[in-house]
Amino acid sequence: MNLSDIMKIAERVECVQPSPPRAVFDLASTLDDVVDLTLGDPDLPPPHNVREAACRAIMEGRTRYSANAGLKELRRLIAADAEKKLGIPIDPEQEVIVTVGAMEASFLSLYTLLKPGDEVVIHAPFWINYAQVVRSLGAVPVFVYTRPEEDFQLTSEALEAVLTPRTRLVILNSPNNPTGAIIPAETLKKIARLAQERNFAILSDEIYESLVYDGKSADSILSLPGMKERSILINGMSKRFAMTGYRLGWAIAPAPLIAQMTKMQENIVACAPLPAQYAGIEALSGNTDSNFIREEFQHRRDVLYKGINAIPGLVCKPIPATFYAMVDISGSGLEAEEFVYRMLREVKVATVFGPAYGGEDYKDFIRIAFTMKEERLSTALERMAKFMENIRK
Ligand code: PLP
Repeated sequence: MNLSDIMKIAERVECVQPSPPRAVFDLASTLDDVVDLTLGDPDLPPPHNVREAACRAIMEGRTRYSANAGLKELRRLIAADAEKKLGIPIDPEQEVIVTVGAMEASFLSLYTLLKPGDEVVIHAPFWINYAQVVRSLGAVPVFVYTRPEEDFQLTSEALEAVLTPRTRLVILNSPNNPTGAIIPAETLKKIARLAQERNFAILSDEIYESLVYDGKSADSILSLPGMKERSILINGMSKRFAMTGYRLGWAIAPAPLIAQMTKMQENIVACAPLPAQYAGIEALSGNTDSNFIREEFQHRRDVLYKGINAIPGLVCKPIPATFYAMVDISGSGLEAEEFVYRMLREVKVATVFGPAYGGEDYKDFIRIAFTMKEERLSTALERMAKFMENIRK
């Protein structure tokens, strides 16, 4: 064997494509004065007491390994928080694992559950990681394309149409990145019935559950009878407490699955970082008010929605949740990828092209993450208006 043979990259890694949002982000970082609306990374700091708790843990030397599944107290608080929302009992010792972000929770779930050839249904447009990880494991992503003219709503009929005897898992992401769509309770009931009749599992990624606006909320499929046994719930601190860099998330799942995920966790990261876990305890302890985060994003949502719809040729539908907007750019006469790169070069606003989230069905859309302060958002809107004017000339 020669050197190139022994250093050959494994197929399971080679098949993973670099993510387009990162590519635009990387290009944007080489240019001056770009307003970067690519990544879902809030610019707000976490609540003060949460930051203090992380610092205290560091200064007091509470920085060793924890149990692989995470600190008991944190798991207790996560279970209690979820019980309150779902109305079902959750055993903190056996049904919860603390992970390095929701990202590791979903990776670990898929890694633990899937075998090559299993089909995994993903509703598009989707968070890019799902399809990448499913493919990397030799399983097969099967897409259900939600339509812009139906407000990107997933229907149980469309889901049923792609089920086969090989369907092992359906991934639900409500509220959804990148559309902000929330799956209504009625649809969740129909999906739950399908899951039981056709015998598949659910991975419910509810990371944006805390960013639902206008006094509304998003339901979870786990609260429906018979669903906890066949579901994995993914959540975390990143969006609710603006703690992206703390890398703290969790999965709630049946005990045998959590036991296997915990075994794998020992071989991957041992445990989530301890200062982050102590910050997480503080965040969920009842002393932390995170409403200001939702209120701030609701305000930015209003600014963006109004601003985009005031630009001739751009259309933004109402955004019920998350900090993303899918903006219809068909009025520009350009396809999304050309639109994104031209807008970045010509007026220094970075966004992501819709096809990155599920293919050509979304070629008339760009995704905007409104994680910037209002002032920067307003600058982006002015620049976008200028860009559209230039195109028309
Ligand atoms: N799930 C979805 C749908 C996301 O959009 C993201 C991050 O943007 C994550 C999970 C990962 O979150 P975390 O920062 O907790 O790893």
